[in-house]
This record gives sequence, structure tokens and C-alpha cells, in this order.
Amino acid sequence: MSKKPADNGKILLTADRTLMSDYHRNIFLGFGTCAPPNFLPDWFYSWLFFPPIKTKKGIPEAAPYGLRKVEAQLLSEGFDVLTVSPLHVGEYIDEAKVLGIHVMDPFGLGPASTTFAFVLKKEPYLAQHFRALLATPEIREAKKRGLKIIVGGQGVWQFLHRPKFVEEYGIDCIISGEAEKVVGRIFRAALNDEPLPKYYESTVEETPSLEEIPDIAKPSIDGLVEIGRGCCRGCQFCSVTLRPLRWYPVEKILREIDVNMESGYTRGVALHAEDVMLYGSKNTIPNDEKLIELHEVVAKKCEGIGWSHCSLAAVAAKPKLLSKISEIILQKQAWWGAEVGIETGSGRLAKKIMPAKAHPFKPEEWPEVVRTGMGLMHDNKLVPACTLIVGSPEETEDDLVKTVELMDDLKGVRSLIVPLFFVPMGRLKNEDWFKETEMTELHKELLLKCLNHGLYWINELIDMSFTDKWYRRVIRHFYRLFAGVVKYKVKKAGIV
Ligand code: SF4
Repeated sequence: MSKKPADNGKILLTADRTLMSDYHRNIFLGFGTCAPPNFLPDWFYSWLFFPPIKTKKGIPEAAPYGLRKVEAQLLSEGFDVLTVSPLHVGEYIDEAKVLGIHVMDPFGLGPASTTFAFVLKKEPYLAQHFRALLATPEIREAKKRGLKIIVGGQGVWQFLHRPKFVEEYGIDCIISGEAEKVVGRIFRAALNDEPLPKYYESTVEETPSLEEIPDIAKPSIDGLVEIGRGCCRGCQFCSVTLRPLRWYPVEKILREIDVNMESGYTRGVALHAEDVMLYGSKNTIPNDEKLIELHEVVAKKCEGIGWSHCSLAAVAAKPKLLSKISEIILQKQAWWGAEVGIETGSGRLAKKIMPAKAHPFKPEEWPEVVRTGMGLMHDNKLVPACTLIVGSPEETEDDLVKTVELMDDLKGVRSLIVPLFFVPMGRLKNEDWFKETEMTELHKELLLKCLNHGLYWINELIDMSFTDKWYRRVIRHFYRLFAGVVKYKVKKAGIV
């Protein structure tokens, strides 16, 4: 890797304030950023769901993992780079020649935001805050003197739907895909006032190997640490699927955990992969030895363990393995959580849009895989935040009936189940968006079932989430109050 001295000028990195938060150390509260303004005052809602991260002279104590990876790559190539809080960017912008911004869902076009926006008919907080960041007077001023703005992150596809915004706010370059082998070249060109591509999609050849992915140099929000990249299930609506599967060695994972712990930011870890259960495997069958080894060494080091995502099929395929992992994790805590994709209760639709999601089981067996997997998660204290896709292409009434029936079967499973409107991504990116005008009575019934499910479980989940420290036990009452008001409002509106 090039260690050539820094190019001429400073690079600032940041993200809008819905991303620069550690969500009261509960990463799943980040879902709250997808909601639009509601019955709570803005300041109170923001404090409840995405309080600003602590800073020292405008430098955040932790930052989104993706941003930390870009920072690490630029540092390794010798650039002068600094990550700052969006609330303090104005204090540093005069020194900067390039501003890099990390995005997840910049215009609220992601599935969760579009669903919330449908219910509450307003622009989500995350879109408001992204625009507010670019409208910061100091950034507008710096643009006039030639500041270059480069954006990257999971949500960059949304800029293709907002070309006017890109012009109006002077975004110079949008980087899509894994960026390790790309960012150095693009930031160098920006510093040297060379022409930049408006939209750069990293190619398959530019996918970094394990050795080419640098360790983060500074703490990541909520102690998130990647354990691997890519996914082998190939769901048609997903863009992750286009990336090859790579697992990091345990030593690399431990080095990044050390970065978080040695800074004093956290003593816990959130393991990140598209399917943590598949750590170390070459296909969709979990590798017992590797997964147990990872959890044993991580448990020795950390006070708490979380997962970003896992699949129901992997859990259903290896019930004993899940209970072994649960045994290891529950020595440290009372439960743990993960995001889980259910997407549909129809085997027919599963076969069409996600034929390998049930693997090693047959796609037609998907509803049974979901029931088994969810039951195992409940028994082992793994709490899933699940997604269901509403309005995917080729969805029929019969598919919806099956999903509604599945919801009935999942009533007793401690979980949140969030319905998401279909958004054209991955191999389905040329399909039509699902529009609220296409909502049928069955869609409405499904949305209501999800709402009821959430309202049934929410208080238990809040109590489980906020027990460790005295102030968290205090905060818990605010979430209970919020959930209570939501329940009251939906009842008053005659929705349930
Ligand atoms: S299993 Fe998840 S990450 Fe993998 S392709 Fe399907 S939706 Fe994408």
C-alpha cells in the first residue's frame, strides 16, 4: 500500500447527525431515524432515538464503521484526514479541500423510510438531516471557494434518483461499491483539482481482497466490527448479493475490537456480517468450529456481544449450534439481537425472488424454515428485528394470505416485524416502486398485524434493552411512554 506523503490539502470526513449517533448504545434504535416528525417535539424525539455522539473539540468519540474504513484507507495512503461531527464541521471546513460524506439513506428512499413516510405522510428525519448538513452555511461558503464534496456508502444509489439535488448542492463525486481500492485515487484527484467522475461504481476487479482491507484506526459506533463481507444467497432485490463472500481471520477481528476497547469507548462488540451464523463457511451451511471459536475468543475479551444480521435458514439448519453460541453469549448478558429477513410467508414467492434464502432447505419450505428459525431464536434469547417485503413484483393475493397466516403463527415469538415497501434494488432495480395507491385490503391487514405484533412485544423489549445502568433504567420509561402514546393514537384512530 502506498505510504507516499500527504497530497496537498486536508480531507474532512463526516456524516449527518442521524448517522453520527450511538443511539443510547442500542444500534437497533437507529430504526427511529427512518421515521418522520410525529407527535413528539423534534428535539425530544431526536434525543430519544439519535442523540448526538459525544465529541471533544468537534471530534466524535466514535463514527460509522463505513466511514472509519474509508478513513483507515486514506490514512494508510498518507493523506491528511480528519473525521468530524456534523455539528462542528464549520469549525474545520476552512482548512479542508475535500469533504467526504458517508450516507445510508440520504433521501429516505430506503424501504423502512418509505413505509414510515407512507404512514405519517412526511419526510423522514434522516433525509431532513442529510439536506441540513449540505445546507450548512459554512459548507455552502466553502463550496464557493472550491471545496470538493465526495459521497459514499450504502445509500448512494439514491443520488441517481435526485440529479437536481446533486447539482444544487454541488456534489462532485458519488462512489458506489466497496471503496478501498478506489478512494485514494479519487480523493487524490480531488485534492489536485483534476476532473472527477460524477458517479463511480467500483468494478469487480476493484473488490479488495482480505489483505487489502485495512483495520479501522479509530472507534466505530456501538463497537461495530465487520467479520466478513458478501453473501452467497443471491436474493434478487438485494445489492449485497453482487459481492463475493469473504471472512476475516479472528486475529483481524480482535485487532479492530482492540481499537474500540483501547480508546475507552466501549467494552462490547457488535459483530457485523450479512449472516453472522455463516462465519467461516464456504456456503450456506454454518461452520460449527469457526463460529464457536470466534464467539469464545470474543466473549473472553468483551463484556457484551451483539450481531448485526443472521439468517433463519442457518439457524434452522443448526439448532444445536445456535444453542451452543447462545450459551457462550448468555454468560455475558440476558439476550442479544440481530436483523433478520423474513420477506414473505409464501414458498412460491420465495422461490421466485430469493431462491437460495432457505438453503440448505428447499425454497418451497421457506414458511416452515421461518417458523422453526423464529422458534429457535425465541428459545435461545436471540431477539430478531425482522423485515417483510410488501408489494414485490409478482406478489399475488395468495402470497399475501400466506404471509398474513405466517404472522399469526409468529405471535408468540419475541420480536419486532417491520413491513417494508418494495424498493427496486439489486437485480430488480429496473422494476417499479411499490406505490401506496396499490395498497389492497390484504396489504393493510398485513401492516396492521405487524403493528399489533410490535405493540404486543414492545414493552418487554424496552425493559430488556435498558436494564444495565441506572440512567438507562430511567430512559426506559420514556420509550415506554412513547410506545404508550403510539398505542393510544392507533386505538383512537380506530386502526386496531
Ligand atoms: S440473504 Fe440478505 S444479504 Fe444475502 S442476498 Fe439475501 S437479502 Fe441480500
